Amino acid sequence: ARVTRFAPSPTGFLHIGGLFTAMVNRLVSKPDGVCFLRIEDTDKKREVADGVTGIIQGLSGFGIHFDEGRTGPDSEAGDYGPYLQSARRMIYRTFVKSLLAQGKAYPCFCTEEELSALREKQEAQKLTPGYYGEWAVYRDITLDQVKQNLSEGKPFVIRLKSPGSMERRVSFKDGVKGKIEMPENIQDVVILKQDGIPTYHFAHVVDDYLMGTTHVIRGDEWISSTPIHLQLFYMLGLKAPNYAHVSPIMKEEDGGKRKLSKRKDPEASVEYYREQGVPAQSVMEYLMTIANSNFEDWRRQNARTPISEFPFKLNKMSASGALFDLKKLQDVSKNVISLMPASEVYDLAADWAKQYDGELFTLLSRDPQYATAIFDIDRTPVKPRKDIGKWSDVRDYVSYFYDELWDGQYDLPQNVTPADAAAIVKAYREAFRPEDDRDAWFGGLKDLCEPLGFAREVKVYKKDPSSYKGHVGDVSGIIRVAVTGRRNTPDLHSILALLGKERVLARLDRFQK
Ligand code: GLU
Repeated sequence: ARVTRFAPSPTGFLHIGGLFTAMVNRLVSKPDGVCFLRIEDTDKKREVADGVTGIIQGLSGFGIHFDEGRTGPDSEAGDYGPYLQSARRMIYRTFVKSLLAQGKAYPCFCTEEELSALREKQEAQKLTPGYYGEWAVYRDITLDQVKQNLSEGKPFVIRLKSPGSMERRVSFKDGVKGKIEMPENIQDVVILKQDGIPTYHFAHVVDDYLMGTTHVIRGDEWISSTPIHLQLFYMLGLKAPNYAHVSPIMKEEDGGKRKLSKRKDPEASVEYYREQGVPAQSVMEYLMTIANSNFEDWRRQNARTPISEFPFKLNKMSASGALFDLKKLQDVSKNVISLMPASEVYDLAADWAKQYDGELFTLLSRDPQYATAIFDIDRTPVKPRKDIGKWSDVRDYVSYFYDELWDGQYDLPQNVTPADAAAIVKAYREAFRPEDDRDAWFGGLKDLCEPLGFAREVKVYKKDPSSYKGHVGDVSGIIRVAVTGRRNTPDLHSILALLGKERVLARLDRFQK
């Protein structure tokens, strides 16, 4: 079975690309594997308070849960922990000691000044800067020199004594990008820093070995580090896992594309979707369309099947970055919401409003049954409409059901004169029978038509348009505008029934003033 992992740093910030990578890891471990969460906190500078909680909550809000690993700042599950790198110091030291004992690593006492002097010389000679070959001056330091330096209290790092070379090329098979060949470019990388904390590279190798990872799936900014990782596995005498590098999510800009940036683009943060009220499910559905392009076809055929049953394929992922299209996300989301039962739409919309739109929340929760019925109009008996793509659309969508929200503007059609519109509403007001069912109501509407100069049926009108001002559809259109202000709404009879007699009469009266 496959073992995958998501390994964020506790910056508290969940990037949409991070969510994407986590999702892919979760999918690849299905159906019978394990996906675990490891927190990579070897870089204390990047850490923020509550960073771990922020990431875990962020992910679980999108339905991503792990079989093992960190479950909170002080808790975890699974037998391969601790899953917090700072709690694993002794483990890394054991591996470092073993490399030292085998002569595969050495302490380097180079100071900052020595290192920059070295770089300057390399630059002057137009050489690749770094600690390698004859430039690696501490590489062959004797045990006595080491002891001497230690007794003087000189700070040091531990470096790998790399057998690689700057000329050699390395190739490996990437689960997303296929065969990759690149310069090995291996230097005597630091594996343990001065403070005794391992570097990202070393911690990754030790952890993914001990935690049994079979597939390392991560952002493709790590491709250039992969030769180092393969080298470290080799030096430790361990088999390397499979690597797969996921392309970043891109944004269109000035005709080109660039990576979605945490600094410049609000939509780079998953927080953005929460604020806008895009349901988590919609975000996941959309990310799936980016992950595997055949997802959309599958979705059309399996409208209500959970995502986890989609036959996801790592090697069908795009090798170049996919564009993130907010408009497409909206369309996907409208579809997702149109398939939700009205009670779920109500719950999620009210939940969102509670935090972001107090007035809407008050109205929705004043009469949950009424509000739920609004969302239900789209579902029965007519086929689902797709008007709501995010919870921040709800205010506008429900506005004419609440006098408090309705702006009272009338979007009258051009093909009926104001005088005819007034006549239609007046006649309808007089004939209005709130108790009518749909058929009786529509029959009543037809009966109004001819005295007002409109055809009672569309086909009658079409046969002889010059004898009529319009047809029954135009008449009901005017009533629709009089009651809702809008030309385009869900089923009118359902709206009238839901608004109720008092409100309908009041609206008809208001229109006539
Ligand atoms: N801690 C790394 C990051 O924050 C994880 C890279 C990996 O998955 O190996 O991106």
